[in-house]
Amino acid sequence: MSVETDKSYNPYQEVLKILDLAAEKLKLSKNDYEALRYSERELRVSIPVEMDDGSIKVFTGYRVQHSSSRGPCKGGVRFSPEVDLDEVRALAAWMTLKCALVNIPFGGAKGGVHCNPAVLSERELRSLTRRYTAMISPIIGPEIDIPAPDVNTDAKIMSWIMDTYSMIKGYNNPAVVTGKPLLLEGCLGRGEATGRGVMLTIVNLYKKLGQPLAGQTVAIQGFGKVGNAAARLLQEKGCKITAVSDASSGIYQEQGLDVDQLIKYVNAKGNLLKDYQEEGVKHINNQELLTMKADILIPAAIENQITEDIARKTQARIIVEGANGPTTSAADMILEEKGILAIPDILANAGGVVVSYFEWVQNKESFKWQEAEVKEKLAVIMEEAFAEVWKVYQDYQVSPRIAAYMIALQRTAETKKLRGVFP
Ligand code: NAD
Repeated sequence: MSVETDKSYNPYQEVLKILDLAAEKLKLSKNDYEALRYSERELRVSIPVEMDDGSIKVFTGYRVQHSSSRGPCKGGVRFSPEVDLDEVRALAAWMTLKCALVNIPFGGAKGGVHCNPAVLSERELRSLTRRYTAMISPIIGPEIDIPAPDVNTDAKIMSWIMDTYSMIKGYNNPAVVTGKPLLLEGCLGRGEATGRGVMLTIVNLYKKLGQPLAGQTVAIQGFGKVGNAAARLLQEKGCKITAVSDASSGIYQEQGLDVDQLIKYVNAKGNLLKDYQEEGVKHINNQELLTMKADILIPAAIENQITEDIARKTQARIIVEGANGPTTSAADMILEEKGILAIPDILANAGGVVVSYFEWVQNKESFKWQEAEVKEKLAVIMEEAFAEVWKVYQDYQVSPRIAAYMIALQRTAETKKLRGVFP
C-alpha cells in the first residue's frame, strides 16, 4: 500500500538537479564541482548464497563511493528489492553532502543488496551479509569506507559485517562499521540517533519560528528505526503523533497514537501495521497519511514519496525529511509555491551519521563515551548546522534545501580545490 511511484524517476538525476541549482546560486564555475557530479568508484558484486532448500541463488550487490575528498567514505547498507545502481549512487552522493553540511571528516558512500530480506531465513541473511562483505572488502576499511545500517539492516547485520571483515584481516576491526551492538563496541545512543536528529531539527526550527512545539500534530511515514525513534522523542516533547505508516498500511488516531505500545507491537511483529487493532485507531493508506492535515509531516521510509501529486494535495504545514530523498525536485517547487517549509534530508536525518562518527572515533581510540556526552555533542552539531542553513535560507531567499546544498557544496568544492587534481 505504498504510494504510486513514477517509473521514470531517477534519484541520481534528482541529486544533480539540486547540485546544479546550488552551484548557480554560489556562482561556482563548472570546474569547481565537475568531479562531484560523478561517483569516485562503483563496485557491482554477485553474491551466491546457498539457500535453506539446498539451491544456490545469486544476488546482486553494490558499493558506491561518491567522494573521499573530506575523509573516509561513509554510508549505510540497504537490503531491498528496490535497490539498483542509480539509487545507491544517489544515496552515496547525499552522504557526501550530509557529512559536509554537518562538518564531520567523512566523504560519502552507500551500499545495497537487491533482495527481499522478509523472505530470507536468519541463516540465509547471515550468509548473504558475509559474502557481500567479503566481496566489497577490498574497498572498505576504517580509513577507506565505513558502512552502517540503513533500510532493512540493523545492529545484528553490522556485527556480521564487522566479524567477516575482521576474519579476512586476521584481527579485530570494530571501526570498519558503525551501528554495532554495544557489546561489539557500538556507541550508546546510535540506535535512536537519526530519530533524535529529526527531533532536534524540529526543536531548532520551532525556536526560529518562535512557536511552541508542544501540542503540534505529527504524521510519520515509515515506522522503522528512524520513524519510531522520532515518534517517541517528539511525543516526549509534547507533540501528538496522529498517524504512522509502514509498507503494509497506515494508522490514524485523532487524539494521538500510543507510540510506546506501537513500538512494542512492531518490535514483536515486524512491519505489519495493517494487522494492528486498537479501539479508536483507524486504518489509512500511505497516500492518505502523506496528504492529511498535520502540523508536521515526517517522511521516514524511502525516496520518491512526496511526488508532484502528493505535494499538490498535502495539507501539512511543515515537512521534515527523515528519509533520504523522499521529495522529488518537481514536488519541491510545488511545496515552495504553497508556502510549505521543507527541511531537507541532508540536515534533518544527519543525526545518524554524526553518532556513527562518534562511534568510529571511540573505536579508533578504544574508548567509551557516556550516553549524556553523545547526546550533548549531537545536539551541538545539529544546532550549528541548523543555524547555518537558516542563515543562508534567509540571506539568499532560497529554500532550506538549496541553502543546505549550498553550504555542503561550497565546503566540498573548497576542499577539492585545496587538494588539487591528482596527478
Ligand atoms: P527501516 O528499515 O528501519 O524502516 C523503514 C520503514 O519504512 C519501515 O517501517 C518500512 O515498512 C517502511 N517502508 C518501506 N517501504 C515503504 C513504502 N514503499 N511505503 C511506506 N513505507 C515504507 O529503515 P530506516 O533505517 O528507518 O530508514 C528509513 C529512511 O531513513 C531511509 O530513507 C534511510 O535511508 C533514511 N536514513 C536512515 C538512517 C539510519 O541511521 N537508519 C540514517 C539517515 C537516513
